[in-house]
Amino acid sequence: MPAVETELYDILGVSPDATENEIKKAYRQKAKEHHPDKNINDPEAGQKFQELGAAYETLSDPDMRHMYDVGGMEGLNGPGAGMGGMDPSELFAQFFQASGGSMPFGFDFGGAGPSRRRGKGEDTVIPHPVTLDELYNGKTLKLNLEKEAVCGTCKGSGARGNAKPKPCGLCEGKGWTTAQTSHGTHLSTSRVACSGCDGAGERLKEKDRCKKCKGEKTIKEKNRQEVVIEKGMADKQRIILAGAGDEEPGTPAGDVVFVLRLTPHESFERSGSDLLTNVTITLSEALFGFSRILITHLDGRGVQVTSPPGKIIKHADTIVLRGEGMPVHKQPDTKGDLYLTFTIEMPDDEWLKTVDRKTLLSLIPPKKMDIEPRPEVVSTAAFEEADIEEVRERYFPASHDFFDGAQFGEGDEDDWVEEDDEDDEYGGAGEPECRPQ
Ligand SMILES: [Zn+2]
Ligand SMILES: [Zn+2]
Repeated sequence: MPAVETELYDILGVSPDATENEIKKAYRQKAKEHHPDKNINDPEAGQKFQELGAAYETLSDPDMRHMYDVGGMEGLNGPGAGMGGMDPSELFAQFFQASGGSMPFGFDFGGAGPSRRRGKGEDTVIPHPVTLDELYNGKTLKLNLEKEAVCGTCKGSGARGNAKPKPCGLCEGKGWTTAQTSHGTHLSTSRVACSGCDGAGERLKEKDRCKKCKGEKTIKEKNRQEVVIEKGMADKQRIILAGAGDEEPGTPAGDVVFVLRLTPHESFERSGSDLLTNVTITLSEALFGFSRILITHLDGRGVQVTSPPGKIIKHADTIVLRGEGMPVHKQPDTKGDLYLTFTIEMPDDEWLKTVDRKTLLSLIPPKKMDIEPRPEVVSTAAFEEADIEEVRERYFPASHDFFDGAQFGEGDEDDWVEEDDEDDEYGGAGEPECRPQ
């Protein structure tokens, strides 16, 4: 599928049909090149580096990459609550706000990181668990949110009537004081925001403070918001309610950003706009075919399939139901495909007792002979049944927990940030130094 926009690919310097591996490699290479620590004379290094991270975050995730390929930046950002003409740097800022305001991949800028967008209140990022059914059918959520709103009584001045703040006595109006910190034997002095006035340099006397907000300038306000999960949205997609976030006097309100987080479905798996599921059929169906409702789809609809006459279905055979996949975001009438793999249920021991085994044996393909040429040494082993699930549990308990999906919906911002032990090499932590004595 030709990409409508290639900007993210251009940032990484790869072609739109690059493999996952090529994207990863390109990112590593560029991240090294543009790391702000190595480009201290380039004021735009931080920005470039962020763009790289954001481009990689999108293109390394198959779902997000698909969304981007299909709909460009707009496709990634969902129902554009005022997002229309937003420039790319704003979008990148969104990415980072939404990952908790910190750099992904364990990078630390030593204070240069984009902790807050300039000239705008702080964004509120809310991870929201969604089911595959909700992404298939779409859903409108009505939520009660609480935010900091500019106090209506004092209009954000924090003062009672026309009272004016006085210079802070603690910092003498400077807004900062000095603090000494020790690193081993080394003492360093640094400026810290004044605790008496929160760095403002001036403060209101107790009696001059607004009664409603107690001089805080903002108050907690509850409001009801509608969040529309559109058909075909992706895992990790952000839904932005522009201006619905916290307010601060004198700056526009921040946004509320919902980050969708898909909980695993018990029978369907999704890859982009395609779906995958498994269907169990009987031995008779495998041999003589079927014409029945094979699955209940995500919208509750039964899907009937008839196998072609004379076709034997083998274990793990796969068929594709065209147009039965996920709706494409923004084009819900277009759907991907649904892949069905078959598991064949063999009849049980009880069944075998009820049939004429000799006749059956003469009808079905013959048993295998010994291996030719016969190995010189042959030993005998006993037949004992085992439980592979129990074996997995014993040897890989960690991966078992992981696949159970226990990590979803716990509000931990970091658990979708890709972890990769090789990232240490850009992290600046370095190897412990060996000093000869
Ligand atoms: Zn007030
Ligand atoms: Zn002060």
